[in-house]
Amino acid sequence: MSETITYSDRYTPDSRDQLLTKISRQLKPARFEHVQRVEATAIKLAKQYGVNVEKASIAGLIHDYAKQRPDKDFIDAIHRYKLDPDLVNWNNAIWHGVVGAELIKTELGIFDEEIIDAVRFHTTGNRYMTKLAQIIYMADYIEPARDFDGVEKARLLTSQNLALAVAYQTKHTLMYLLTNNQRIYPKTIDTYNAWVPQSGLEN
Ligand code: GDP
Ligand code: FE
Ligand code: FE
Repeated sequence: MSETITYSDRYTPDSRDQLLTKISRQLKPARFEHVQRVEATAIKLAKQYGVNVEKASIAGLIHDYAKQRPDKDFIDAIHRYKLDPDLVNWNNAIWHGVVGAELIKTELGIFDEEIIDAVRFHTTGNRYMTKLAQIIYMADYIEPARDFDGVEKARLLTSQNLALAVAYQTKHTLMYLLTNNQRIYPKTIDTYNAWVPQSGLEN
């Protein structure tokens, strides 16, 4: 990655290199490359939208930290951290952000609430998302290796209007899930109601 920034000790006890090493131990190469592309995309957006670049870097790198953990780790964590008991009825797609956020606090010593929320909400979105959370949500969707119908529209919207881009992703992910008869996580519906109907999004 061309973008390399030096971390203060405000948000993570590790240097960027140390953090990369820890993340690389958790992820297969393809996923490790994805998180570095999300980081680079998030840094660009942070500069554009006046968001803390160090937080964008950290959140981008750690957002999928828990993606390749066995289900058992998530079930254990749901009990250990007394998270919403309904979470046990979901799966890795939902757990790796919502429950992964707790594993990150414990294992990486990253406690900044805004960074942790950005991880927590990166898959489903949330009614309330800070600009940082919106950036991670979008960077994950549009990083350069993403290739799906609509990604160019998503990239254009992200460069023009972050909230409209969040609305676009939220709507299109929900449509995709419905088309494929997937179960909809209730928070995903909350995100839709908060971001799409009044957004002015056209399609
Ligand atoms: P990734 O971790 O970089 O692959 O990307 P995400 O964390 O954004 O997405 C993980 C998966 O969760 C994707 O396949 C989404 O379609 C899926 N997903 C998002 N919202 C929901 C939901 O409400 N229900 C279900 N079943 N899956 C969802
Ligand atoms: Fe993810
Ligand atoms: Fe991701």
